[in-house]
Amino acid sequence: MYKFCPQCGGRLASRLLKAGEPERLVCTGCGFVFYLDPKLAVISVVPKDGGVVMVRRAIHPGYGLWVVPGGFVDVGEPVEEAVVRETLEETHLTVQVERLLGVYSYRGSPTVVLAFLTQYLAGDLASGDETLEARIFQPGDIPWPEIAFRSTRAALKDYLGMGEMGLGEGRGKTIPPPSPKTPPNPL
Ligand SMILES: [Zn+2]
Repeated sequence: MYKFCPQCGGRLASRLLKAGEPERLVCTGCGFVFYLDPKLAVISVVPKDGGVVMVRRAIHPGYGLWVVPGGFVDVGEPVEEAVVRETLEETHLTVQVERLLGVYSYRGSPTVVLAFLTQYLAGDLASGDETLEARIFQPGDIPWPEIAFRSTRAALKDYLGMGEMGLGEGRGKTIPPPSPKTPPNPL
């Protein structure tokens, strides 16, 4: 947690400024309020050769685990450009945005994830920045237990239209019977 004011270098203290809101870091010298904002990340679901492009992380958190290409949005950067940039950096693939797939956020997590469905345009798949390996997984081969983040898992399931049923959670495993209460996919 931050200790010093970025404006004057004074001590920050936690204060309740408004009932019902979280406590804020307030400078005891100049009164500056240091709001801790969410972090915005983008991820890219790239269909290719009948499967989906995934990369194995070479950094923490989630070192050695699989994700789809993605990363943090820079300040002032349009999110559609960020997802194209991150996909290129991590996979050497040039893509274009097709549509927003979903927005994923979780209680207690600072990161809000925008998942985009992107379309492959050019390039040969290869591991790039911060990635150990890049490859295409067919839907039935997606390594669900080795996926680093729940937002990645949720976005892939939404892309595959799997909903909560968990279909395809690895071949050879028991697939639970569909619940009669599960409504048909409205999309
Ligand atoms: Zn200050």
